[in-house]
Amino acid sequence: MIKKIIVFVLLAYIPSLLVLFVGCAEEESYMPEISGVVTNLHYTADYTSTAYVPAKKTYSPPAKKKYKKVTTVRKDYYAEPKWTPPKGSEKGWNAIVIHHSATQRGSMATFDDYHRNVNGWEGVGYNFVVGNGYGSGNGEVETTFRWSQQRVGAHCKTDYTNWANKNAIGICLVGNFEQSRPSYRQMFSVSKLVKFLSSRYNIPASRIYGHKDTPRHSTSTNCPGRYFPMVALKSKL
Ligand SMILES: [Zn+2]
Repeated sequence: MIKKIIVFVLLAYIPSLLVLFVGCAEEESYMPEISGVVTNLHYTADYTSTAYVPAKKTYSPPAKKKYKKVTTVRKDYYAEPKWTPPKGSEKGWNAIVIHHSATQRGSMATFDDYHRNVNGWEGVGYNFVVGNGYGSGNGEVETTFRWSQQRVGAHCKTDYTNWANKNAIGICLVGNFEQSRPSYRQMFSVSKLVKFLSSRYNIPASRIYGHKDTPRHSTSTNCPGRYFPMVALKSKL
């Protein structure tokens, strides 16, 4: 009976003992093999010979971004084509001087006639004339030869430098604003015009003057009149 038990126990455990033994044996014999392989990988000639050619590192600079030329068009005003001076002749204007005509009616033609024949000038002294409906359209903007030809103006005398006639754009609104205000259409047009000019020549609001407030002006004048809404004009820029 005892023999039977011993045989049974042996039969039951021998396979598992064998597995343990074989497993250990395999593990022991396997380890050197692994280290052999690793050694081979690191020290055989193959690694440094032509069998292994490291990829050449070539430097390529980062691709330049292609920027699209952006032309922004301000939609808040509409510039009339004739306000843009002809190519090649454009001057670097740096101020704007506002005038009134001190007359009830008028146009570029009537001022041109007066300035030419009475004052003996080359022609109308302003760069732009904004009509009031009497002599020219109400709110109509006329562009004079001094603008289209980018000539020195004759609208605002200063000291010997003559800086305002040389560098400031002269805009005359028909009317006498010592007596009344400009028309709504005149203000609408002159706002658009001033907006266009100040944007094109980077003229800040601080360099938009009424004739009487122009630095170093040398004529005693009320121009453009006490009722001209200069603050309102500048606030629309
Ligand atoms: Zn004036």
